[in-house]
Amino acid sequence: METRELVDIEELLPPKPRAPKPSDCCGSGCCPCVHDIYEQDLKTWKKECELIRNGGREEEPHAISAVQPEKWKEFEIIKINDINNNTYLYTFKLNDDEHLGLNIGHHLIVKQRINGKAVTRQYTPVSAINKRGSFEVLIKIYPTGKITPIIKEWKVGDLIPWRGPFGSFTYKINSYKRILMLAAGTGIAPMYQIIKSILENEDDETFVRLYYASKSFSNILLRDELSNYCQFWNFTMCHYLSGEVDMGQKRYREEAMDRRMAKDDIRQELVKGQVDSTLVLVCGTKSFDKDMVNAAKDANIPNQNIFKF
Ligand SMILES: Cc1cc2nc3c(=O)[nH]c(=O)nc-3n(C[C@H](O)[C@H](O)[C@H](O)COP(=O)(O)OP(=O)(O)OC[C@H]3O[C@@H](n4cnc5c(N)ncnc54)[C@H](O)[C@@H]3O)c2cc1C
Repeated sequence: METRELVDIEELLPPKPRAPKPSDCCGSGCCPCVHDIYEQDLKTWKKECELIRNGGREEEPHAISAVQPEKWKEFEIIKINDINNNTYLYTFKLNDDEHLGLNIGHHLIVKQRINGKAVTRQYTPVSAINKRGSFEVLIKIYPTGKITPIIKEWKVGDLIPWRGPFGSFTYKINSYKRILMLAAGTGIAPMYQIIKSILENEDDETFVRLYYASKSFSNILLRDELSNYCQFWNFTMCHYLSGEVDMGQKRYREEAMDRRMAKDDIRQELVKGQVDSTLVLVCGTKSFDKDMVNAAKDANIPNQNIFKF
């Protein structure tokens, strides 16, 4: 008879708490509500699982920062996922004891040679800031752009030079009651990193609302991941689709508008809470950023509470 020498660690994990059904909530605003209790149980469960997976250790040993701001270092591409024909998710290899050592919302710089000249561009990893063993970058290709047509030629096994981290965004948990994120296209990258970090930190009780502009449903980046995050009590979002003709593709529980994001949407959202305890984050194209910053200012959000990536 075959003997199993290794116990599958996943079999040792406690059962995952069951999500309440819509009918379990009486809808009268109980505090805590069944959904809050479920979120809390889920956090406790995740922590217990992590502890078991770590062999009972509370914390993993210190990771080594894999990148430096002043020195280029090459990283190997280990996976390329085609997200929607013009946007790709690139996974780069790190050693098992290495992470990027980023602060949330910070980015890296990549270098490529074009006609003998070095050209650099910024990219914000979408993987967790403390993830070990690999990091992921989401890049949109512009056929008339300078660097991205070169990036489109990247293959698994290529070595790509990066340095970093860079960025001036600083975030302290619970320093704002709510964050309104206004993103367009690949502007989702820094937002996603921040959302991930807030929702996966059980001590962070900041409420996050995301307005995300894309052309159509098929152009939405990280759609599944964002939908999953909507199960958290402190995250909601709305898609704004400027060129979608078939709104029938909207999924159950997704909020979506078949139009561009307007100044009035921002104003109406911002009047729902106190302006001085609200942070507004903006990341998109130049004209999108300008319109959104102006909309936040018009809604009396103080300048120091508005950050443009
Ligand atoms: C902090 C930061 C983080 C970023 N993170 C990401 C990320 O995670 N993912 C991502 O995909 N991008 C990100 N970007 C954008 C990225 O750095 C590049 O700007 C982008 O990839 C385009 O590079 P490119 O050289 O191909 O295009 P560029 O040559 O810079 O051109 C970009 C676009 O503008 C058009 N264009 C260029 N010049 C002009 C002009 N004079 N007039 C009109 N149109 C023009 C081009 O045709 C193209 O469509 C980030 C940018 C910043 C500042």
